[in-house]
Amino acid sequence: MSAAKDDPNPKPSHFLRAVIERDLEAGVYAGRHFAGTPGDAAHHAAGPLDPARIRTRFPPEPNGYLHIGHAKSICLNFGLARDYGGVCHLRFDDTNPEKEEQEYVDAILDAVKWLGFDWESNGTSHLYYASDYFDFMHRAAVALIEAGLAYVDEQSAEQMRAARGDFITPGSDSPYRSRTPAENRARFAAMRAGELADGAAVLRARIDMASPNINLRDPALYRIKRATHHNTGDAWCIYPMYTFAHPIEDALENITHSICTLEFEDQRPFYDWLLDHLCELGLLAQPRPHQYEFARLNVTYIVTSKRKLRQLVDEGIVGGWDDPRLPTIAGLRRRGYTPASIRLLAERTGASKAGGWTDCASLDIALRDDLEGQAVRAMAVIEPLKLELVNWAEVFGDAASVACAAPAHPQRPELGQRNFGLGPLLWIERGDFAEVPPKGFFRLFPGNRVRLKYGAIVECIGCSKDAAGNVSAVQARVLPDTRSGTPGADAIKVKGTITWVAAHDALPAELRLYDRLFTEEQPDAGGKDFKAALNPQSVRVAQGFIEPSLAAAAAETHVQLERHGYFVTDRIDHRCERPVFNRIAGLKDKRS
Ligand code: ATP
Ligand code: MG
Repeated sequence: MSAAKDDPNPKPSHFLRAVIERDLEAGVYAGRHFAGTPGDAAHHAAGPLDPARIRTRFPPEPNGYLHIGHAKSICLNFGLARDYGGVCHLRFDDTNPEKEEQEYVDAILDAVKWLGFDWESNGTSHLYYASDYFDFMHRAAVALIEAGLAYVDEQSAEQMRAARGDFITPGSDSPYRSRTPAENRARFAAMRAGELADGAAVLRARIDMASPNINLRDPALYRIKRATHHNTGDAWCIYPMYTFAHPIEDALENITHSICTLEFEDQRPFYDWLLDHLCELGLLAQPRPHQYEFARLNVTYIVTSKRKLRQLVDEGIVGGWDDPRLPTIAGLRRRGYTPASIRLLAERTGASKAGGWTDCASLDIALRDDLEGQAVRAMAVIEPLKLELVNWAEVFGDAASVACAAPAHPQRPELGQRNFGLGPLLWIERGDFAEVPPKGFFRLFPGNRVRLKYGAIVECIGCSKDAAGNVSAVQARVLPDTRSGTPGADAIKVKGTITWVAAHDALPAELRLYDRLFTEEQPDAGGKDFKAALNPQSVRVAQGFIEPSLAAAAAETHVQLERHGYFVTDRIDHRCERPVFNRIAGLKDKRS
């Protein structure tokens, strides 16, 4: 059954919902036209009324694998569009020529789909590449030049930095600031034609060198960079700056609500300046998009910086981008977190202006909330110890085994039954036996009785040891007439129940037991060396046994192993003939 099918959907309200509801109420975007594809004012004016009530977008730079913070942004943008009768665009922000790779583009497409979202709506694909807008961006730059709103600055980078001022000192004007539009047009054409060296000139907006907001002190719009772009090849040797490109991308696509993280708050005045002017100049359709900022998702014990994740991968500290200990979407998936659990976390963490840390336990809580009602149950033994039922023949005669059954799910009879056998030789957890029981120990120790879950009651009579003195097997007697599900089985009361599998039908399996990758709550806080906080015990691989009901489990099957937690069959390494299970999370949070 698909984990993505149903969201429990609590949908707490937050300021972004309030903004959207206010805009819808006021009909702010009701009269917009949309031509079906991105374009300028004339393009959209020729199209019909926009069928989407709002448009949002998720704009990743394809320079790495997406992580849980991106998942949050995906859920927010696609989720809001879905909830309000809108459309969310998936846009690759590939305006920087140096860093993009197809591998990342493919991984991002995969991640968005896996999370349960789609950029296709009513038969139209809203998958866009920002580099397709280079021609328009160039045209917009020329229009700004002609309106006296941009100039080519040929100061050195050093001079420009010095003239920018700082928080207390206003900036000072560049000597090139008073160039005429005609001069600027010629110099910008020279930049474009490759007549100037990389870094020899930049195109800047002409706003206010004394603005208290440093982002408004004539920000750069275009730089010279001889680099081959994956989409446009060598067509350009000038590339737009992110702060210039991004608002234009939003406007060309008819985005209504452009949602980003708080570090862009200081850029909003420039976002508004740029789009207002390009609308006035008739280049972009109105009403134009607006930017709204929310606090990024930070999760304890997790590092999300792409640079640091890359370091973990490149240095072989983890097994790859999809290592089950990484917070990449690929890693979360392989670990076994379900799309619904990630959507639930995103929903529960809402959207706010105040940053903060989300307890990493929240992810496990969301996972349990998703899987509790749907994951099938099974027994497994992770640290096997032999249990010999010494009186088997007295109780069961010459039967090699007797049949046992258990519900696949305790609350879902429609999921049917699991069948397995009880035999004279079983595997139990090493931790379920104690030669000398500690206080309050109700499981196996000499003289004590326990129930083998779904099996029968046994009474421990002793154990055997190997040459080193370690317990190698436990002996017990099975009590007659105590088989689960038979009349009178409950006549004898015991305090402990243990899980087990039978040696004759259990399947050997590898169980990968994961723990936090870091031992500190904020491994990279304050520029700390995050690698110093690596948990040396972040994974342990156990060779155990699983119940035969899991014999045909496909890859990515979620299961609750009774008493042990939620597990998933590894999507890469699992084979029916060589099962591999990853532990996703325990049944409850043991640490809090
Ligand atoms: P990082 O620096 O963490 O690797 P990024 O911001 O450089 O991420 P982009 O590809 O530019 O990565 O981000 C795409 C979108 O995801 C942006 O809108 C960005 O704001 C959002 N995003 C990135 N990290 C988070 C986060 N931790 N919480 C919420 N949104 C995030
Ligand atoms: Mg970024």
